[in-house]
Amino acid sequence: MSNEELLRRYQSGGGRLAAARAEGLAVVPALHTAVLTCMDSRIDVFALFGMALGEVHVLRNAGGVVTDDVVRSLTISQRKLLTRDVLLVQHSDCGLATFTDDDFSEELAEEVGMRPPWRTHAFADPVVNVRRGMARLRHDPFLRPGTVVRGFVLDIEQFTLDEVFVEHAGAPLARTTGTDRQHGPAERRRSGQAWELQPDRAATSTASTS
Ligand SMILES: [Zn+2]
Repeated sequence: MSNEELLRRYQSGGGRLAAARAEGLAVVPALHTAVLTCMDSRIDVFALFGMALGEVHVLRNAGGVVTDDVVRSLTISQRKLLTRDVLLVQHSDCGLATFTDDDFSEELAEEVGMRPPWRTHAFADPVVNVRRGMARLRHDPFLRPGTVVRGFVLDIEQFTLDEVFVEHAGAPLARTTGTDRQHGPAERRRSGQAWELQPDRAATSTASTS
């Protein structure tokens, strides 16, 4: 049993190691940021962003989808634990792109006799899904005004990040030109450089009000 394997690892040092790593850490994340990503077992989100324990809130679900429950967690994260920014990361080759909501519900219905009351939030294109998630977060009434949301699609093989922009002018997000709206201009496709390039773009866009 896999549960037993995990409990065995806890007893053989995991518990002590976790206690040592948490020692002295504040409950408020030091970088005041929340990261939402997929539960995919290949993604080491702490390694990906060079994060340490105590620095961020990490929220994960199937797909890294902005659901009601994600909004609940983010609202608590912001209002009670002082986070400000949200980083949304979905990825290529995601399990949620391998079926449709309807097919999945129907499979379940055939097996257990009823459809689930929830949606799977399956999606075909992570870029579109990130964009929708960002739009939802930006319009959520309970998140703090001025919340900075940035969204990315992670290439699960190369581990490069492609930034996604919401197509809506006048927002506190990085605004885009026509060529930026799709999956990204050539500069953003250069592996490993997307992350450094975008803050300048965001600052420039925000500064030039129109
Ligand atoms: Zn996934």
